[in-house]
Order: sequence, then structure tokens, then C-alpha cells
Amino acid sequence: MFDLVVIGAGSGGVRCARMAAQRGAKVAIIEKRFYGGTCVNVGCVPKKLFVYASHYGEEFHDAEGFGWHSSGQGFNWTTLVNNKNKEINRLNGVYEKLLKESDVTIFNGRGRIKSKNEVEVNGKTIQTKYILIATGSQAFVPDVAGREHALISDNMFYLENLPKHACVVGGGYIAVEFAGILQGLGVETHLVYRRNMLLRNFDMDVRQFVQEEVVKKGIQLHLNDDVVEIKEQQEKDYPYRLSLKSGESLNTGLVLYATGRHPATEELGCEEIGVDIGSRGQILVDDDYRTSIDTVFAIGDVIDRVQLTPVALAEGMYVANLLFGGQPVAVDYERIPTAVFSQPSIATIGPTEEQARAKVPRLQVYRSSFRALKNTMSGNQERTFMKLLVDGDTDKVLAAHMVGPEAAEIIQGISLAIRAGATKATFDTTIGIHPSSAEEFVTMREPVA
Ligand code: NDP
Repeated sequence: MFDLVVIGAGSGGVRCARMAAQRGAKVAIIEKRFYGGTCVNVGCVPKKLFVYASHYGEEFHDAEGFGWHSSGQGFNWTTLVNNKNKEINRLNGVYEKLLKESDVTIFNGRGRIKSKNEVEVNGKTIQTKYILIATGSQAFVPDVAGREHALISDNMFYLENLPKHACVVGGGYIAVEFAGILQGLGVETHLVYRRNMLLRNFDMDVRQFVQEEVVKKGIQLHLNDDVVEIKEQQEKDYPYRLSLKSGESLNTGLVLYATGRHPATEELGCEEIGVDIGSRGQILVDDDYRTSIDTVFAIGDVIDRVQLTPVALAEGMYVANLLFGGQPVAVDYERIPTAVFSQPSIATIGPTEEQARAKVPRLQVYRSSFRALKNTMSGNQERTFMKLLVDGDTDKVLAAHMVGPEAAEIIQGISLAIRAGATKATFDTTIGIHPSSAEEFVTMREPVA
């Protein structure tokens, strides 16, 4: 009899399993594919490695302004994929080791909930006091004619060859990130998005700024448009022909659909035992991540609150603490720092200006955009954008938004200050680190009209 059986060894599941075991619980984890889940294997981690790879093309060029001569030619896709695979295999091993060292029993197979205290795996039924569903999400491709030709982000990590031309569909995180990766690696990249501005849930200034920068990098945007059909054709470099709603057609080497991820609940046994599922297919949970069955919990992408690894980790820790004698700390969903590794990258904490205006009567907005020092000599035309939102009544800084190199590294630190309740006066009296881009966050003196 286990105290906890976790289904899914992704970021959230592994964290909860390990923490529960460290608190003395007898824990098992079930995984059907790979340790570390989407993030480690076909998500955040390999994606970031690809982002690094794709930046080099531009950097070789920029280096010339500093006296370096480098052709930047000769990029080898196979080398990148092989080296990435090595690193991901290493990380899989690390995850497995962490679980074993924490005395978590591992089952390789598909877990299915049989009753409120039983899970079946590989034909065997295991008894448990609690069950945690941490099965994550899977990419979703809408019902478009020829959808069998569409790739999803998982496939991008194992492409045999890089095409000459690619078309990305969607305007969210994955679409913008992969469009940047492909364009940076020298692929002629088109992006088709059904609305007029990318990244719908981000601050409007950020969206506008990124959109302009992305176009400067050479990505060709097809806005207010959609793919209506994908057809195969006999053209070596352009094996697909896309018909767009606008009437345009595109010959391309690859079609990537990045149109969102749906909770992974298939064949889990939820319906049979009465775990309530919401309209988006998500498992419904209360504030303690408890489902409609009192022994069954769920965290991470499968509950579809915020599909981010660090959020799943925080939720996993909450459940481990709740059930096995720690201090559960509620996740602060209002102020989640997040980054899009587009080129240039975006990072943000706190509400958008539009959201803040609806709540804060005297909102002060500070904005700055500039060309970073490095680019004055590199000749690179990329610009950086920063924005702070301040409550004029309390002087508290509510949000920070940034577009530019190392935005994630900078905003992570700013997030601490904001969560600690820093005021604009504290920002103003903080000495800047000079010369840096980040110092702009402590030197924005006048709110915009
Ligand atoms: P997103 O939800 O970010 O974006 C989905 C995009 O697809 C939106 O632009 C949406 O348009 C569009 N779309 C949805 N349905 C259709 C349809 N039927 N036809 C055409 N377009 C459609 O999802 P992603 O797939 O980009 O990423 C999934 C999640 O993974 C993200 O939300 C994020 O939480 C996480 N992620 C985080 C990363 C990070 O932290 N850096 C990186 C990658 C992913 P509309 O705007 O109109 O809804």
C-alpha cells in the first residue's frame, strides 16, 4: 500500500513525489514516456538550446562591428540535434536518479485510475491512500484539411533536416518562439495568425513592440489570416502548399501548428471514477488541488490554470506539504513572472496596462525604449523596451514588462522586488549597474502622460 501514487513524471509530478517521499511518505510514480515530461524532453529545455543556437547567426554578423571576421556559414542541424539529444538524455538520467535516491518506486507504463484508492499499471493494480494526476498536456491541431501534414512542437526537436522554408501557425508562446528559432537558423519563415497582433494575453505595448522587432528580423507575418488547407505536392524544397483564408497560397517545406495545448486526460479513468472535467478538458480542482474525488489530486497543465513548469512545481510542492505534514504555501497566480524566448525575448511580471487600468484608479505608466549599447557598434537595429506600472496612490510597483536581450534574467530579479512590495521610490533610490540595460528599470523618472 502506497501513501501516494503520482501519474506522470513531468516537472510537477516528480517534484511532488520527491517532496512527499522526503516527508516520509511511501510514494510511487508512473511514467509512460520519458522522465522530466514535456519541459525537459520536448519543451522548455531543448527549445532554449535551440534558441541559443539560432542566435549565433546574428551574433557572427554583429561581431564584425567589433573587429571580428567570421563568415557564420556552415551551420549543421544534425550536430545541433545530436548534442541536444545527449544533453536531454543526461537530464532524463538526472530525473530518474533523483527519484530513485528519494526512494520513490518507479513504474514504466500507462497509469489508469481504477478506484479512489487503486491505480492500474502494466496489468497490475496498486493500492494507495492518495493519487496525484500530473499528466500534463498535449499539443492540439485544429480540424483543418490536410492536418495530417502538420507538425507539432514535439516533432521540431527531431527533424531530420532543416527546411528552406517554414510556416508556423498560431500567435502564442510556441509559435513566436519557433518562428524566431527557424528564422535565426536561416529558414525563410512565415507566421500565420488569426488575429491582428501576436501574443494576445500580453501587454499591448509589448505586443506592438515585439511584432515590429519580429518583422525586422525577417519573419513574414500573415495576420487576420488562417490556413484552410494543407496539400502535399511534388516539389523538392516545398513539399506542401498552403491555402490561406485570405486567398493567398504558400509553398513551404514544413508546417508547424502551435495552436495551444490541451490537458492530457485520455485513458486515465477519470470519467469512470467520477473525477469532474471542465469545458476545456481540464481536471477541475479546488484551492487544495483536490478533484471531485477526495483522494485524487491534480496539478500542472492537466488542470489548465497556467501551463508553466515553475507553476506546476509550486503546485506539486503545495500538495506534498498539504498531505504529508509541511506548510502548504498558496501559489500566487496574480504575479507569475514569465518569459517568451522570442527574438528579442519578452519577460513580464504582473498585470498588463489594460488589466491594471481596470483596477487601479491612479495608474502611472513608465516606458522606455532604446538601442542597447552593444548594438551601437554591432549595427544591429534591434531595440529594447521596458515598462513599469505603478499604483499612484500607494507608490507600489505593480508590474514590469520588458522586451530585449536577457529579459528573463532581468525580470526574475525585478519579480522579487515587486512581490516584496517595492515602491517606485525604492526603485528610484536603487543604484543602477552601469552600463547595463537593466539599470533603465531604476532610472525611469517621469510617467508618460
Ligand atoms: P498559446 O495558448 O500560447 O497560443 C495558442 C495560439 O494558437 C494563440 O495565438 C491562439 O489564438 C491560436 N489558436 C488557438 N486555436 C486556434 C485555431 N483553432 N486556429 C488558429 N489558431 C488557433 O499556446 P502555445 O501552443 O503557444 O503554448 C502552450 C502553452 O505552453 C502556453 O500557453 C504556455 O503556457 C506554455 N509555454 C510556455 C513557454 C515559456 O514559458 N517560454 C514556451 C512555450 C509554451 P488566439 O490568440 O486567438 O487564442
